[in-house]
Amino acid sequence: MSKNKTKNTKSSSKKSKISPRSATKSANTKKNKKQPPPTKSSSAKPSSAKKIVYFFGNGKADGNGSMKALLGGKGANLAEMTRIGLPVPPGFTITTEVCTYYYKNNKTYPKELDQQVREAINRLEKILGKTFGGTDNPLLVAVRSGARDSMPGMMDTILNLGLNDQTVQSLARISQNERFAYDCYRRFIQMYGDVVMGVQRRPGEDHEPFETVIEGLKAELFPGRQHVADTELDANALKELVVRFKKLVQERTGKTFPSDPWEQLYGAIGAVFGSWNNERAIVYRRKYGIPDEWGTAVNVQAMVFGNTGDRSCSGVAFTRDPATGEKVLYGEYLINAQGEDVVAGVRTPEPVANLRAKMPQAYRQLEDVRKTLERHFREMQDFEFTIENGKLYMLQTRNGKRTGLAAIRIAIEMVKEKLITKEEAITRIPADSLSQLLAPIFDAKSRSSAKPIATGLPAGPGAATGKIVFNAEEAEKMAAEGHRVLLVRVETSPEDIRGMLAAEGILTARGGVSSHAALVARQMGKVCVCGASALQIDYANQTLTIGEQVFHKGDYLSIDGTTGEIFAGELKTAPSEVVQVLIEKTLDPKHAPTYKYYEQLMAWADQYRKLDIRTNADQPDQVANAIAFGAVGIGLCRTEHMFFEGDRIDAVREMILASTKEERQAALHKLLPYQREDFKAIFRVLQGRPATIRLLDPPLHEFLPQDAATQRELAQKLGISPEAVARRVHELHEFNPMLGHRGCRLGIVYPEISEMQARAIFEAAAAVQKEGIKVKPEIMIPLVAFEKELQLQIEVIHRVAAQVQNETGVKITYLVGTMIEVPRACVAADKIAQDAEFFSFGTNDLTQTGLGMSRDDSGSFLPYYLSQEIVKSNPFASIDTEGVGELMRIAVERARKTRPDIKLGICGEHGGDPASVIFCHQLGLDYVSCSPFRVPIARLAAAQAALRK
Ligand code: PEP
Ligand code: MG
Repeated sequence: MSKNKTKNTKSSSKKSKISPRSATKSANTKKNKKQPPPTKSSSAKPSSAKKIVYFFGNGKADGNGSMKALLGGKGANLAEMTRIGLPVPPGFTITTEVCTYYYKNNKTYPKELDQQVREAINRLEKILGKTFGGTDNPLLVAVRSGARDSMPGMMDTILNLGLNDQTVQSLARISQNERFAYDCYRRFIQMYGDVVMGVQRRPGEDHEPFETVIEGLKAELFPGRQHVADTELDANALKELVVRFKKLVQERTGKTFPSDPWEQLYGAIGAVFGSWNNERAIVYRRKYGIPDEWGTAVNVQAMVFGNTGDRSCSGVAFTRDPATGEKVLYGEYLINAQGEDVVAGVRTPEPVANLRAKMPQAYRQLEDVRKTLERHFREMQDFEFTIENGKLYMLQTRNGKRTGLAAIRIAIEMVKEKLITKEEAITRIPADSLSQLLAPIFDAKSRSSAKPIATGLPAGPGAATGKIVFNAEEAEKMAAEGHRVLLVRVETSPEDIRGMLAAEGILTARGGVSSHAALVARQMGKVCVCGASALQIDYANQTLTIGEQVFHKGDYLSIDGTTGEIFAGELKTAPSEVVQVLIEKTLDPKHAPTYKYYEQLMAWADQYRKLDIRTNADQPDQVANAIAFGAVGIGLCRTEHMFFEGDRIDAVREMILASTKEERQAALHKLLPYQREDFKAIFRVLQGRPATIRLLDPPLHEFLPQDAATQRELAQKLGISPEAVARRVHELHEFNPMLGHRGCRLGIVYPEISEMQARAIFEAAAAVQKEGIKVKPEIMIPLVAFEKELQLQIEVIHRVAAQVQNETGVKITYLVGTMIEVPRACVAADKIAQDAEFFSFGTNDLTQTGLGMSRDDSGSFLPYYLSQEIVKSNPFASIDTEGVGELMRIAVERARKTRPDIKLGICGEHGGDPASVIFCHQLGLDYVSCSPFRVPIARLAAAQAALRK
């Protein structure tokens, strides 16, 4: 035991009397030089026996893989990997409860923390025969964050902790490698300086200050050379870097870099807890719905070194290819480097396959680990490893993020390999990921005539075209203005998350396919090409140079995230394989491997789901698409959309401008044939599937021209004065049109409109039935609140139906029902159900009227509601189950009391949102209806709902 050790132990016993301690950045103040700083005490007193530090090492662990809530994903899996005999360096995890405590108690720690940390460090010292802060054989540790759900790159990590001017010399002596020791030291100062002491890029600086110092030294040592690898810096250069780094820290913070390892350790622990609330972590949590109260754990683990020389490396690998799902060991590594180099994207790593030739023994160990991990976790794993002088160590494993395509392929293949069941496969695939399978690719023709001007690593598949921008703020701004943008950066960094969200695609000059930000891009389903080293980016002048070509901000580029290719200009995009097979019918399924996975998954989903999936469509081609995607009928045909086609809008306007009933009927008579033809075409495509057709819904003023010039044109066409048009527009003006003269209120005041629409539907039905095609119209009355409204409209419909059946001699089977889109209708559902043969929840309006929140104007305040967690998700996208959902529940219960077999569905936008689909299943609805391209998502979500325990 070294002197230092004794001293530390002593100070530990002294400190155990000190109650909770601060983890603020004051960790390096003089007063507290030898110990973590005492702080303001806190009121909450956790029980003294509470275990808040969990140890792992030597094949044993206090925790296990099921303890993610307490130990975070990383901590739980380090414990689990230790238990199953994988080579994990020993360490310990400080629980997420400490993080929660820290934030609830004014950034202080529970009083038992210090003792438990010291005991754990003691155990580490014993296992490794090293001493923390000792000069004989110093123990160095890594301090890493680890939340319950992985948040790649969002929080902080510090490596090589425990180094100072003395211990670095010991490390050099023991390793007989001075270069390595000083490489560790400069890395430590760099990370600690950044994360704990806040030496970071300032506004206007394009590079991290430590990187600027490195580049400066390289320029002095290798004058005239463009690219100098970090590995080319020798021990003396690294010593010089240490000096310059410390100077930089002093200049920027006014503080001396701390040399006491304990002070370093508490500074790092505090910084990791602090990073839970950094801006990018908060943005990430919002996007992925991770609650703030979960908190992060802190993992302290003995260092192993990938930077001892050419027999060492650090890497990140996946047990299967996360972009395509192919069953191959996939990943990358950097020789003579530490883990952060691989994920930070500073150097471009080599593919892991190269290790087979370069370190065959280590590669075999990796292959074995791959098998062990998959057999044990029964999931594709994303793991970090270090090879130190030929020996493999595992630093982390977690379920790997993957593209939608990979998620589907992996799940299907794992069923075939008998690793998981069909049910597990279905529940594992995020239903939304199917949208990636339907995403466009480059149009084959325009692709074949284009020559890539550079290539990078394919990090997120799909095709993207857009105007280039060089920073995240600009990407957000231009996207908000309606431009398609590509975010071009030297490195993809987690700070760019907002810009990445806004961009069509992301292109970087450096960094590998597993750089943290690239992982994030893939998870978002963004197209991403990274590590394209031919790119020269000049942030100051906002230019991108590739070879001879110079691109400026706003110029078009196209990138292919499946191949990594980069093209100048705007390339046409083409539909995905699934769309080519199903919709365009231009591709033979035999030659469409992606389509086959889709088909298999859909077939499995259909075996389990209880909900039917219908579609919202008002044109025959839309209906055909939806059927190809698996829709079993139309859940909402918005007839007003048909009013805008061709020159029929003139007749619509004539109808609105009519001053007498006769005039109105004459105009409606002109519209009738158009509507009839529309319905005939739709019925033919449906081939006997049901069609819920909604009568006119929007306020009439929406059909009239608002500007004087178009009003004059209309007046001329109709042979009336422009003043008359203007007057009528003025008369129709409403202060609150969404709550005004719309929905069934139109048919109540102008029953002739409902009459014409009903006639068009029944005449079309009769005609198509005569052609030998079955027809199932379901006529739907919008915005009903009172049973009498519905009764009056039903009377009209039955009357017209009887007339048309008489005239044509064709018997038509039809239903009449209503939309449920105002709270009164939910409450009065028992009465309304006396007349309605079906209900369809119009959750767009039900959310609007239930929350009293305009669906068209919520953009100005909803973001605040989301960021302040007043609402957990956008209620117009995902059903507000506690409010609107309760209204639906009341309606379902009351309606079924009156009419037990009433058909129930939903046709608001929520019908394609997986969480809402699950809710609809739980409510016991018969179907959900959504836009055609969301039908596959709804099918899968419905199966997942049925499989939920
Ligand atoms: C609804 O309100 O949910 C609905 C489907 O109708 P629209 O969106 O046309 O108002
Ligand atoms: Mg509506």
